[in-house]
Amino acid sequence: MKLLLKDIRKYYIAIIITVLSLTVLHIVFHNVCLFKILFGIPCAACGLTRAGIYLLQGNVTASVRMHPLLLPVLVEMTVYCFLRYGKGYEYRGKFKRYTQGVLLITLILMFVVYFYRMYKVFPGEAPMDYNWYCLFHLYHLK
Ligand SMILES: [Zn+2]
Repeated sequence: MKLLLKDIRKYYIAIIITVLSLTVLHIVFHNVCLFKILFGIPCAACGLTRAGIYLLQGNVTASVRMHPLLLPVLVEMTVYCFLRYGKGYEYRGKFKRYTQGVLLITLILMFVVYFYRMYKVFPGEAPMDYNWYCLFHLYHLK
């Protein structure tokens, strides 16, 4: 608990900026994905929030369909939180290398899944649909 409060104190400005940005994007554009707002096409993380909502509702199939990497990301986050706040690991040395390795693998998987979904699903069903009200599209309509 002490480490968690320490981390929150260390990163509170980033947390506040993130929450405010997402709130403003949601209110103004009814979407929190800056990539989709600007260019109309989904990003690699599109669908994670909706996958989380489906998971909270107990619909695992819909969650995996919305974004297949939510469950592995949740496992990674749980392991990270256990090691950081349960075991008290500092972000350096072996723990830092482990975390960076996991993040790199996750990033690679995100792009593999993204390009697969862009090839197979886009521009089909959400979240792999096209945003016709994106700023890039609206700018070119003038
Ligand atoms: Zn996105």
